[in-house]
Amino acid sequence: MHDQLIPAAKPLIGDEEVAAVERVLRSGMLAQGAEVAAFEEEFAAQFLRGRTTVAVNSGTSGQLLGLIAAGVGPGDEVIVPSFTFAAVANSVVLAGATPVFADIEPVHFTLDPEHVRALVTPRTKGVMPVHLYGHPFLVDGIEEVAAAHGLAIFEDAAQAHGASWRGRPAGTIGSFAMFSLYPTKNMTAIEGGMVACADEGTARRVRLLRNQGMETQYANEIVGYNNRMSEVHAAVGRVQLRKVAAWTAQRQRNAAVLDAALDGIDGLTVPRVAEGAEHVYHQYTVRIAEGERDRVREALREEHGVGTGVYYPIPNHRLPSLTRYAQGVELPETERAAAEVLSIPVHPSLTDGELDRVVSGLTATMSAGG
Ligand SMILES: *Cc1c(COP(=O)(O)O)cnc(C)c1O
Repeated sequence: MHDQLIPAAKPLIGDEEVAAVERVLRSGMLAQGAEVAAFEEEFAAQFLRGRTTVAVNSGTSGQLLGLIAAGVGPGDEVIVPSFTFAAVANSVVLAGATPVFADIEPVHFTLDPEHVRALVTPRTKGVMPVHLYGHPFLVDGIEEVAAAHGLAIFEDAAQAHGASWRGRPAGTIGSFAMFSLYPTKNMTAIEGGMVACADEGTARRVRLLRNQGMETQYANEIVGYNNRMSEVHAAVGRVQLRKVAAWTAQRQRNAAVLDAALDGIDGLTVPRVAEGAEHVYHQYTVRIAEGERDRVREALREEHGVGTGVYYPIPNHRLPSLTRYAQGVELPETERAAAEVLSIPVHPSLTDGELDRVVSGLTATMSAGG
């Protein structure tokens, strides 16, 4: 037994974040203002080649407002993966539309373009692919299907700050994209989201929806929400923005160590990176075949002090909240992934000793199996 469990994820908060919070709290300017505006601009400059961004109070809010701004509503269908966090399908339902669940491809666990094509109907308004684990979805295939059928791409970049596909940054592919700033994501604002918009019309609608439909105070143009980001959250996000590139590089170095040590182990598949893809390793997710995953997970925790995650154990189409949208749906690769994936620590605060323990623990646990 180890007394110190290596956590599966760990937010990094330093003195700079604490100082930024204190500075904003003492300023007395707390509600959405100059910090939020600066955060939006800096985020766009760093990740999005200057695309217009709108900061909101969560990634999920960003997804919902983006969909409404795109005109998605009752009677529309949006094709989504089932193998992802429930926020994706939830945002479609909350917009009043119908999520249609598509299967994933087995290599990167992202939406399978051919299955998306098979699910298109006259009601399909768009497709919402996810850059899962920080690996870009198969952009060429999804864009081809979207173009062929006149679908919009609503990009879920919640886990993909800094990822790219053939040099195109995650967040610049869809008609809008959403980033999450939740504590376990590659960077955080404690809670928060960023919507990246392809055009000014979308950006303006998201801005209105974020703040009761107002651009000018008390001249409400449309019915909107209160999904604003606070100055305190933006100040934390701005500090994290200055650190995230180094953290991503460290995630990638950690992943290279894991690849070198784990590739070739019987019964285990390391994550593959598609040609032209920049993977930012929000998670380092291996596949463990044939019913062994849960034993491996347990042994890693109990015998080696290594925390792991399963993202995601129950596919969305089988969640009690969403089964009504999934009558008769069968997604074999989604089911297989849900039973086989295991995310092991890759976060930038791992020490060399901890990384060694992850490798030796997993190696020992795999050879102890059948
Ligand atoms: C985290 C996450 C979300 C939701 O973001 P929140 O900021 O938690 O609302 C949506 N999609 C995916 C894939 C996520 O990982």
